[in-house]
Amino acid sequence: MRAVTTPTNAKKTSFEWKILEQQNESKASPSLEKTNNAKIIKLTPSSSYRNQIKIQVTANGKASNHVWVITTKYVEPNTKYAKVKASSVQLRTGPAAASRYEDKGTLKKDKIITILGDYGDWFFFKDGSNHVYAKKDKFRTEYTLAEQKTADKNLQTACFNARNDLVSGKDTATKTSTWAGMTNTQRKTTLTNFFNTVKSTLNLSNASLVFNDAPNGNSGYKAVVIGTRIEMNQKKLSDYEDVFGTIMHECRHIYQSESYKSPLKNVVSNKTLEYWEWNNTPGNYTNPASASNPGKAYYAQPIEYDAFRFEGRTRSGLGLTNYDIPHTGSWG
Ligand SMILES: [Zn+2]
Repeated sequence: MRAVTTPTNAKKTSFEWKILEQQNESKASPSLEKTNNAKIIKLTPSSSYRNQIKIQVTANGKASNHVWVITTKYVEPNTKYAKVKASSVQLRTGPAAASRYEDKGTLKKDKIITILGDYGDWFFFKDGSNHVYAKKDKFRTEYTLAEQKTADKNLQTACFNARNDLVSGKDTATKTSTWAGMTNTQRKTTLTNFFNTVKSTLNLSNASLVFNDAPNGNSGYKAVVIGTRIEMNQKKLSDYEDVFGTIMHECRHIYQSESYKSPLKNVVSNKTLEYWEWNNTPGNYTNPASASNPGKAYYAQPIEYDAFRFEGRTRSGLGLTNYDIPHTGSWG
């Protein structure tokens, strides 16, 4: 979330303004171009009000009257990103219909833009090297928690189904015994196949998986995530449920950081994104060994709670019945 910034700085700051329209044409200086071929000039406004600034232009030694012009760089948008929800969106050179502004190409569904300005019913942003406008109602600016829950359930089910297909056996007990009879090499091949399915299900294009004896230098770890690489302990592959859960868990951590680094890329609510980003900031993450109540303080963190629930653990399985969790995301 971003607070709307009031344009008080505009009174003092001199920078490039894009002039869209002059409010008082009869008193305007001819050196200011307007509307269709909006011009970017550098000036210091004497006053500002919303997206309008008051300026005085001097040409040929004569100062014009003060005129109000409509500009863009006047206020930070309260939403930074938007994603095209229509099949296609028409871009224009100004914030009004085609009769007034030229067409400037189109955007396709799911394209994510970074909003530079808010102009009534229009977003102002950059498309390639062009500054353009498009109607706000063609975009979505967030996902709701309800949408996130539905999406997460589907992602989780797809991963569970893939796991069930990879190891033979009619139930968990039989699969556990199948797994116990496999060599470590067979297990690694199976887990790599599973990882590739989870990777594509969660759209983690940069994720990778390696097996070694000491993830991140610690032979006690089961697995760690370093950036987008999962290091998995090849000496701890014997527990059927645990190893598949671990891959889902670590992939989910990559999914979390990809989600807040590229908002709207995945179906995650803004509130969840805020908690994930906050929790992942150094100083806000509780290491299991460092907490006074290690188990609960570790499991109840938003990113750990989400990753454990995604791999299929229940609240009671985590020892968190009646425990206050800062943000439960999709999982309740
Ligand atoms: Zn974790």
